[in-house]
Amino acid sequence: MFESLKSNIKSANLLQIEGRAFINGEYINQRSVQKMDCFSPIDHRLLKQVDCCGLYEVNLAVTSAKDSFQSGVWSKITPSERKNVLKKWAELLHNNREELILLETLDTGKPISDVMNIDFPQSIQCLEWFAELIDKINDEIIPDKADYICMVTREPIGVVAAIIPWNYPLLMAIWKIAPALAMGNSILLKPSEKTPLTAIKIAQFAAEAGLPPGVLNVLTGGGEVGSIMSYHEDVDCVSFTGSGRIGRKIMQASAQSNLKRVWLELGGKSPNIIMPDYPDLKNAAKSAASAVFSNTGAICNAGSRLLVHQDIKDIFLECLFEEANHFNPGNPLDLTTRMGPVIDEHHFKFILDSIRKGKKEASLIYGGKQVLHESGGFYLEPTIFECSNNDKYISREEIFGPVLSVMTFKTFDEALKIANSTNYGLAAAIWTIDMNYMLRGSKELRAGMVYVNNYEGISNLNLPFGGYKQSGFGRDNSKYALDKYSELKSTVIHLK
Ligand code: NAP
Ligand code: MG
Repeated sequence: MFESLKSNIKSANLLQIEGRAFINGEYINQRSVQKMDCFSPIDHRLLKQVDCCGLYEVNLAVTSAKDSFQSGVWSKITPSERKNVLKKWAELLHNNREELILLETLDTGKPISDVMNIDFPQSIQCLEWFAELIDKINDEIIPDKADYICMVTREPIGVVAAIIPWNYPLLMAIWKIAPALAMGNSILLKPSEKTPLTAIKIAQFAAEAGLPPGVLNVLTGGGEVGSIMSYHEDVDCVSFTGSGRIGRKIMQASAQSNLKRVWLELGGKSPNIIMPDYPDLKNAAKSAASAVFSNTGAICNAGSRLLVHQDIKDIFLECLFEEANHFNPGNPLDLTTRMGPVIDEHHFKFILDSIRKGKKEASLIYGGKQVLHESGGFYLEPTIFECSNNDKYISREEIFGPVLSVMTFKTFDEALKIANSTNYGLAAAIWTIDMNYMLRGSKELRAGMVYVNNYEGISNLNLPFGGYKQSGFGRDNSKYALDKYSELKSTVIHLK
């Protein structure tokens, strides 16, 4: 599978792409539905015209989701029956992996090796993990008087809208869908207009696996679709991953409509602290580069603020430049490429504008230029700034591109202070072999995820993923994700 650039380009040209929204168990054939162009960031080729849904289609999907929920075809079957359908779905996705991997690569411009080794396998693992979890969660009996039985039971919420971003389209879809379906909810999935193709495709395999009509609907289109869902009186929950700006709008929509539950996984500006005692600086630099340049920097938990102890700054930067060099952009269909294009021109301009602002207040010490103009895509060199403090635009704002800000510190306490001086709190990392620093870092860094001597963290599905402060609330992955998609009910029974 995927052996050479030439054969990958050939397979890409042969791909049959589906562009219709999926409602009530089938792709819709609505003649009135508008279409939008879906381009590949690789070379700006038109991949497909995709349905651009509006109020009519959202209403159709909400009705179908609500009917399916109330009928009990999914919500009231046994957990093990749900498990079997989800496992079958994972198997079908696995059997169609070549098509799905290629589709995700074309739609996002990610390096195909990343989709093969990260996005795709982690999506399957997540689906299987929640499938396996669902018949192992027990309700509770609470002690009370002898003639009372008190129960705490978990029930599905109803119609869940999952609104997801463009940076990991397949993985983010599964992170939401898997626990929500495991709990018995019915779903409206809204992928980003920039990357709708795998979300559309996987719905077909869900139906083939036996998911009843109406339980999973995929509504493609722009932000308006997300907005309509957020205001909808018959949507019971919005589970969102994306920017703080849109997250705020969704909370407002909930407040102005039916107080639907809202869960927000938002952005970050995560600190990566390198202490001078860490013995393998080359390894730390390798990880630091990957933490911010992988996925063209479009990683919510990117290590985009590097805090290096002043005594090792020069040697560390030397190692870092060497590692950054491996991320020079290339064709994503080439197996050796580690960084592809930026998602589109709009985002590219935002990143360039951020670099321009950065140059006014900090030193550009690596990269910063557009490359591969002739490709038709928007490719950018990995970029590094040295900042005198944490208050600069470039060291404060989430750029969501391959742009790293480096700062120095003198003491561990100073590093902690800089690290925590941010409105975000998604992730933080510290590199040290001193037990005291490790444990203090774990306790005092205000972030949902703390990595010590690594910057990985998302492959273990038992670990909750989510943030403190303005990085949002609620957790994806792990058993705690079920909290987002269920209501807890207390029942008090007096025996007669
Ligand atoms: P975004 O602009 O906030 O969009 C996210 C989703 O919301 C898209 O599907 C978008 O649709 C939709 N949307 C737009 N306007 C809406 C509205 N008024 N109401 C409801 N939904 C609306 O974010 P993005 O640019 O796609 O993604 C980047 C952001 O996501 C970054 O801040 C990143 O840090 C964050 N992120 C967080 C995590 C995490 O787990 N914490 C993971 C990944 C990404 P359209 O795209 O069609 O406009
Ligand atoms: Mg696209």
